[in-house]
Amino acid sequence: MIQVTLLSHSPEPMRSLYMAYRTCYSQLTPQQVFERVEDERIPDAEMRRFIEERLKTGHASPLEQISFELAISGVSRAFSHQFVRHRVGISFEQQSQRYVTYKGGRFPYTVPETVRRAGLDARLAALYDQVGELYEEMGAAGVPAEDARFLLPNATNTNFKITVNFQALLHICDLRLCTRAQWEFRKVAALMRAEVLKAVPELGRYLQPKCGEHRLGYCDESEKDWAACPIGRVRPHKDALFRLYDAHRRGELQPLRAEDWAAIEADAPAGEGGAPAAGTS
Ligand SMILES: Cc1cc2nc3c(=O)[nH]c(=O)nc-3n(C[C@H](O)[C@H](O)[C@H](O)COP(=O)(O)OP(=O)(O)OC[C@H]3O[C@@H](n4cnc5c(N)ncnc54)[C@H](O)[C@@H]3O)c2cc1C
Repeated sequence: MIQVTLLSHSPEPMRSLYMAYRTCYSQLTPQQVFERVEDERIPDAEMRRFIEERLKTGHASPLEQISFELAISGVSRAFSHQFVRHRVGISFEQQSQRYVTYKGGRFPYTVPETVRRAGLDARLAALYDQVGELYEEMGAAGVPAEDARFLLPNATNTNFKITVNFQALLHICDLRLCTRAQWEFRKVAALMRAEVLKAVPELGRYLQPKCGEHRLGYCDESEKDWAACPIGRVRPHKDALFRLYDAHRRGELQPLRAEDWAAIEADAPAGEGGAPAAGTS
């Protein structure tokens, strides 16, 4: 089972973030800003409001100044290959298949739900039993673990201890909470988000897929993928936004129709037996 646990994070992350941003925009020295924070001349609510405003901008480097340490266990090597492709703002330690050997011909692995649903999990288990036996035999024959592991499947489980800064975590969630990402990565990203949300809700809520209302707010994947995505129903595709903008510039916006005026002028509020509610079709 996949488990994600937040081990620790930068102390007082909101204060760190405020200090980082304020230093950029203030005539005061960071020491003077710090004093004002300490003696509460700058109240918490003001710090939060200021950070919220900055988070709407592209000024992202201050977000690198706070970090989160997470333990992640029970994930497959299929997941870990993807995870370690993230190169910036994240440090990984992963369970070794050289120093850790599997005993008694048994190794932990993940079975995807699709395999279970296809009724193929028993055959997979039988195959992995054979793999485990041969792995054991290799060990007994003096094959080192670093070579015996050539047998092991992508399904083999592994564990991580990571440190990731907030900017990198936002980027990972942008990509890996997107429905285009693999299910296991989506699950891990969602669990990381849940852990941060519990500890620092003001920041955790920004961890969204890139189409989230706190991120791009629209989909920048292909239109085909957008059309196939369940979130596509509530998020515009970027090409649709450009088409709308171009139509506006050319003065070609569709005029309001008779039914739109009927909705506007209806006696009953929209959606209450009078005109159709906005957004329904
Ligand atoms: C849906 C999906 C499908 C994928 N499919 C494949 C696939 O089929 N094959 C495959 O090999 N990989 C695939 N990947 C992995 C992908 O190519 C990246 O390796 C992965 O997203 C991590 O890289 P990153 O640049 O996004 O993030 P990071 O490596 O963490 O980098 C963060 C950001 O830093 C910047 N950056 C980092 N390094 C450099 C650099 N050297 N030069 C300039 N800027 C840099 C970039 O702006 C980048 O977005 C897929 C990823 C996703 C989300």
